[in-house]
Amino acid sequence: MTNASEWARQLHKWHQDDRLAHAYLCVAEHSQSVKKFARLAVGVLLCEHPQNGAACGVCSSCLQIESGNHPNLEWLAPDGASLKIQQMRTAIKSDTLKSMSGNLHLLVMEEVHKLTVEAANAILKWVEEPGAGRLFLLLTTSPSSLMATLRSRVQQMRISEDQEDASGNIQETEVFSFDTQEKWEELQELVREFGDSAFAGARTGWHLVSDKWVKWNFNALQTLAFADLLIHYLHECASTAKDSAAIHRYAELALAAFQVRRQLQSHVNAQLAWETYLINASRRDEGLGR
Ligand SMILES: [Zn+2]
Repeated sequence: MTNASEWARQLHKWHQDDRLAHAYLCVAEHSQSVKKFARLAVGVLLCEHPQNGAACGVCSSCLQIESGNHPNLEWLAPDGASLKIQQMRTAIKSDTLKSMSGNLHLLVMEEVHKLTVEAANAILKWVEEPGAGRLFLLLTTSPSSLMATLRSRVQQMRISEDQEDASGNIQETEVFSFDTQEKWEELQELVREFGDSAFAGARTGWHLVSDKWVKWNFNALQTLAFADLLIHYLHECASTAKDSAAIHRYAELALAAFQVRRQLQSHVNAQLAWETYLINASRRDEGLGR
């Protein structure tokens, strides 16, 4: 079985090899898994500098996706109980106005089993003969409820659940805790090492912390907690720093860490996001986090 991240990486590889089909029916048991897949796939396919099959999270394309206004991405969700024909007509019309340059354009539809019959009929031709560079990701948890005429036009991929999805979405308000004082202190140490590496502009800082990072196998919630602790640490450093250049740098690093924290909420690869953070921190002259 292939999970959301593995499927996203696979699509990216097919894209590089110019072997993408024009439409996929993406099936998972739970809607959060199939949506997670779509977010990862959209990210890596549109990212300007994807690394190891994941979006970088910091390029202008990634930031446009995050802010919900990437010109090459149309993301449709049911309007109330169904995906309605009017939504489809609007989407088709706006698609025909877009460039046919062959650059990748992604069309994501959530819960396609909620297409009304008229809406499904309206998109048959569009899905079968899309414009240049179009890629449809049709998401569903109930493929058998989809009209056979539509189902037969698309390739199917089954996304398996992974642990993180099964445990539910990230709750921002949950409190992070380690089970022993010793581990907690180890974490604080990790945060300090990481923050100091960033301040020193040392890319190698990642190697100091990556062993622990892997060993502890942070879950999604813990990566957010790490970000919070780092931001707190950098603020503390800024408030005790002696000269204005140091204060400025700590403040910039804290802001960039805050941006990483935001990206983490949209399921970017945490390890990659922090590595990129350190790389940006080492490019002192080019500004941080942009
Ligand atoms: Zn990117």
